[in-house]
Amino acid sequence: MLFHSTNGKIRGVTFPEAIENGLAEDGGLFMPAGMPSLPSAFFKNIQEMSLQEIGYVVCNTLLGDILSSQAIKSIVDDALDFPVPLRKAESSEGLYILELFHGPTLSFKDAGARFMARLLPALFPGGESRTIILATSGDSGGALADSFKDSPSTRVVVLFPRGELSRQQTAMFCNRPNLTAIEVGGTFDDCQMLVKQALADKELDKALSLTSGNSINLARQFPSIIYYFHAYARAREMSPDSDKVVISVPCGNLGNLAAALMAKKMGLPVKRFIGANNANDTFVEYLQTGGLRPRRALMTLARAMDVGNPSNLARIIDLYDGDLASLRKDVEGIAFSDREIVQTIRDVYQAEGYLLGPQSATAYRALQGRLAPDEVGVAMATGHPAKFPQAVMEAIGHTVPPPPQLDGLNLLSQPAVKIPPAKSALARVLLS
Ligand SMILES: *Cc1c(COP(=O)(O)O)cnc(C)c1O
Repeated sequence: MLFHSTNGKIRGVTFPEAIENGLAEDGGLFMPAGMPSLPSAFFKNIQEMSLQEIGYVVCNTLLGDILSSQAIKSIVDDALDFPVPLRKAESSEGLYILELFHGPTLSFKDAGARFMARLLPALFPGGESRTIILATSGDSGGALADSFKDSPSTRVVVLFPRGELSRQQTAMFCNRPNLTAIEVGGTFDDCQMLVKQALADKELDKALSLTSGNSINLARQFPSIIYYFHAYARAREMSPDSDKVVISVPCGNLGNLAAALMAKKMGLPVKRFIGANNANDTFVEYLQTGGLRPRRALMTLARAMDVGNPSNLARIIDLYDGDLASLRKDVEGIAFSDREIVQTIRDVYQAEGYLLGPQSATAYRALQGRLAPDEVGVAMATGHPAKFPQAVMEAIGHTVPPPPQLDGLNLLSQPAVKIPPAKSALARVLLS
């Protein structure tokens, strides 16, 4: 499989090159020249397959020409070694919640980060030192820090927006010896822009061997594809009478939704998808108008979705060849206010004692009242509620005991380096 840039100037790139560069030289994101298909027979008894078995088949289809089956199996088994259960919502008919937050740092980003940490040494066995740079709206920083904690030759540089992360989030990446945490006086989009500028800088790349740790890197974005086959399998397993599965995805930088649509192009027989936005509704607006109007992100309670200029929209447009009508057939976009998010968390908690995180609440709410009687809805629950205490507090009036993954983290956090949103300032920190 070969890759091209979404900006169209660069073609014929191999997978290792795409991973090593992270971002194409023309500023675009790498995309496969076409998505490979899975045979329809695969879906006949997919409900009997485990997450790891599904992951192996999907990754072999994507990467079988680059890595041995054995290497793929061990990367998948090791990266996805935590449960990803589907839970039936008791208070909403036909609605299920796929809990993607049982990994070591409690968000769906663990899968991609863990996959990347195991893929890099398989693709580049030399073990040379490299720097992974990423912008985080909260969860990527912790996921990358944890995934690379045993890779001393890899330095991880995390840029995060000032004042927007919970203590639970920053604590997860401020404690690692091979990690540099940088607090940027700006938004997530400013952080993302700085990362892209650093990746495009030939001298920085030469000095530091830079690659991206965000979903702009396919090493992190591809593994999310597995989750959609798994979501479908578990929905069929728990609800064998309906084959009309609708999946709802909370969207920020759109890496996760891009993975959903890639899965669909690979043959996943999901009926349709819903992309849920918070007040940062660049994607919903794009679906409505076809116009792309990046804007300054607003700060909301579903902070992991506070992205005004989502990078992976370029991948979605590329996947559909710019054909908005056919994209609209596959995805509906719906945006929710903080008030609606809080109300949803509260309602579900009161009805069945189940606590949704604020991001998951958008996906959940997008399915309520929008399913036909013969449809089954799966809300992608991307983050553990304990990481978002402010939203939980506003919804139910108290926080909840943190799971063991968060134990002791608050005591350990070290302060981050502070910079303004300027590349020169970032370069100084990187080279120091
Ligand atoms: C990152 C994140 C999202 C948004 O995912 P994208 O792939 O950036 O669209 C949603 N929820 C949580 C909990 C996240 O960490």
